[in-house]
Amino acid sequence: MAKSTQKNFYITTSIPYINGDPHIGHTYELVAADVLARYARKTHDKVLLSTGTDEHGGKVEEKARELGKPVKEYADEMSARWRELGPLVQMSADRFIRTTDAGHEQRAALIWKALTKDIYKAKYTGWYCTGCEAFVPEATAKENNGTCPIHKKPYEKIEEENYFFRLSSYTEEIKKQVESGSFEILPITKRNEILHVLKEGLDDISISRPKEKISWGIPVPDDETQVMYVWFEALMNYITVLGYPEHDDFKTYWPANIQIIGKDITRFHAAIWPGMLMSLGVALPKMLYVHGFVNIEGQKISKSIGNVIHPREVIDKYGVDALRYYLMRHVPSYEDGDFSWSRFEEVYNNELANELGNAVSRTAAMIIKYQSGIIGDMPDAEHDIAPYTKALEQCKFDRALEEVWEQVRGLNQYIDEEKPWELAKHSDYDHLREVLAYMCGCLLEIADLLEPFMPGTTAKINHIFNTGVVLQLEGTLFPKHDQPAQPK
Ligand SMILES: [Zn+2]
Repeated sequence: MAKSTQKNFYITTSIPYINGDPHIGHTYELVAADVLARYARKTHDKVLLSTGTDEHGGKVEEKARELGKPVKEYADEMSARWRELGPLVQMSADRFIRTTDAGHEQRAALIWKALTKDIYKAKYTGWYCTGCEAFVPEATAKENNGTCPIHKKPYEKIEEENYFFRLSSYTEEIKKQVESGSFEILPITKRNEILHVLKEGLDDISISRPKEKISWGIPVPDDETQVMYVWFEALMNYITVLGYPEHDDFKTYWPANIQIIGKDITRFHAAIWPGMLMSLGVALPKMLYVHGFVNIEGQKISKSIGNVIHPREVIDKYGVDALRYYLMRHVPSYEDGDFSWSRFEEVYNNELANELGNAVSRTAAMIIKYQSGIIGDMPDAEHDIAPYTKALEQCKFDRALEEVWEQVRGLNQYIDEEKPWELAKHSDYDHLREVLAYMCGCLLEIADLLEPFMPGTTAKINHIFNTGVVLQLEGTLFPKHDQPAQPK
């Protein structure tokens, strides 16, 4: 894939709230973002992938108090735990921002000041869930009979002087940009959901809390009695990480090409964040991709159910590429998906070991056997990769990998039909050489298409075939697992 443009490319993940431990479900977003970044690096000169942790708020403060730790110490520990997740799944992130970084805190204060024309003080009377760190509208509180369905705790009634952001005045403009596609929301079901919200009209939102109730937050400029509402300043990370407003990175990379988030925080990213950007006079991101959740054996991942799986358990046994492959191919890109050990095992054995692994090992073995490892001239690959490209541009990772697998299966079929071993038996060496070279060419193209998804596997396939002489791997690409996997 040639570098067709000179344009820059900026991708962000959401920044997870550090209260709680990471699990396999959280790796979906990191891998998806990494796939897009690796793919973008093939076609763009400058690519920036940013991730991080969200660390302020009452919940973090409370948890630290429970543990008898200074809040900063607790935040440091938890942030480090989340930070391990990226390298573990070989995410090629360029930046890791913490909302407790001094740079973020200083820039958040600058942004607050720049938003002043849309900020006013008023009394907030209503409900709040500390578990969600969210102001809860009256209607929602009623619907749930006064108890948060996620945290099973009654909503707190609060009555306090807060700062408000005039989000209502941006409703129309946000709607226009969503409808025109200049701010594209994928999948379409999420776009429709948010258009429905926008049609109802957005309310102004409370954006601060009294310091006497929550002290673990960024102080509101020129008012020491208030701290910024954690969500409000966390959203700013996408531009503070670029050094908004004055740093060159901001000019180079904003607006983001793709922001990736989970479905539970759509409203923050498709309504509140755009309103903030408009107030700042800054362009909206080009695309918001909203992914679903990963369940385990058909159930929501939860500590109380006790079905939490850490990605390390899967990676230790099957390797990181197998996990990346499973998440991207077998968790639907536009819906919720499921992880189960038995399904994972099946996919690993059938698709990775049998289909891809065998295509590679058969090809290598035959070239070594019949031609002493010498490959000869390889024809240029001639597959139509447009469907693959289009799928990736629409964050349809599952579809893109299906396209690649068509080629893997096509290659195995080609080998079965051409029967190189028969050609060797009949001393048809010219044809044999052509057939084997074609097989190598196919594998190198497959390796190239797989690179964003399975960088380690691609490197191995390239190592075997791309010097012109087949080099043996130690062991096989995907060693077979015959025993059913048992979670530790
Ligand atoms: Zn809650």
